[in-house]
Amino acid sequence: MHIHDILARDETSLSFEFFPPRSDEAARALQSRISSFEALRPSFVSVTYGAGGSTRERTHDLVVSLKARGALDPVPHLTCVQQTDAELQEILHRYAEHEVSNILALRGDAPADDPSWNNADEALPHAIDLVQRIVDFNNTGAHHDPRGFGIGVAGFPEGHPETPNQLRQMDHLKAKVDAGVDWITTQMFFDNARFWDWCERCDLAGITVPRIAGIMPVTSLSTLRRMADLAAGTTFPAGLLRGLHQWEGDTEALERVGIEWAIDQCTSLVKQGVDGLHLYTLNRSNATRQLVEALPEVTREAGEST
Ligand code: FAD
Repeated sequence: MHIHDILARDETSLSFEFFPPRSDEAARALQSRISSFEALRPSFVSVTYGAGGSTRERTHDLVVSLKARGALDPVPHLTCVQQTDAELQEILHRYAEHEVSNILALRGDAPADDPSWNNADEALPHAIDLVQRIVDFNNTGAHHDPRGFGIGVAGFPEGHPETPNQLRQMDHLKAKVDAGVDWITTQMFFDNARFWDWCERCDLAGITVPRIAGIMPVTSLSTLRRMADLAAGTTFPAGLLRGLHQWEGDTEALERVGIEWAIDQCTSLVKQGVDGLHLYTLNRSNATRQLVEALPEVTREAGEST
């Protein structure tokens, strides 16, 4: 379903992010959890896109298999890093053939195995270049929906590490959105005040598309450390850290702290009228289920059309 129709149907959209399994065993494990995710009836799910050919194929395979099952509406992430124009065109055609409705267009993480990598050497150096390619594709009429793919991009409420100048960062976001974007999904954040301040700054910049808030229930200290690297610049409030450290060594209690924090964040965001919640699931259904069950406001009744 096109993102405009999803956001018109669901007052607060609910989406889950998966990463493509890196082995056949991990693929089987995820498949066994898919029905638990389906039972939560999210508005859509998104599938990340990584470096390297086989991982990239796994994104495509997972998207196509979810589409075939029918219960979850998959939104593939697509990145420009180490990707030629021709490869991207082929991917767009394949997704259009499978009637995938929306794409999250990203620059992509710098390749971990190439310290000399420079985005300026890429065919498409920035996410805006990919947005423009998708808009061009949409204009060819090759998609079954006359509107073409719905296009999403990333937003960074606490800034992006490569652009410390926050005013310039907002200019880049505005240019990206003006190129033809339908929605923004944010980097994870743990302090709602940062998100709302960023929303206000988006308003001031004239960015009017819906903003979907990225939320991650922290379930272990090692995950927290990994995320602090991946989402550099994110604030980890003292209250959250205090709770997590207090239960270091007690996996269940620590997980409860992380989930409760995320529930409080989501409850408050919904009360204040957020457009949507995007849960970074790390492919784990347990924490996601506990979080969603605590949010009756965003749960869709069984029988509502998908
Ligand atoms: P851009 O919009 O290109 O921005 C990157 C940097 O370039 C920013 O600092 C921006 O200010 C700057 N910039 C933009 N335009 C210009 C310009 N014209 N001149 C100079 N500087 C400019 N990574 C993956 O590899 N795979 C994924 O699946 C993935 N999914 C993600 C999902 C979400 C919701 C988020 C928030 C991030 C995700 N990422 C993923 C990480 C993301 O690709 C990286 O954070 C990347 O560094 C930034 O991507 P972007 O799309 O915002 O890039």
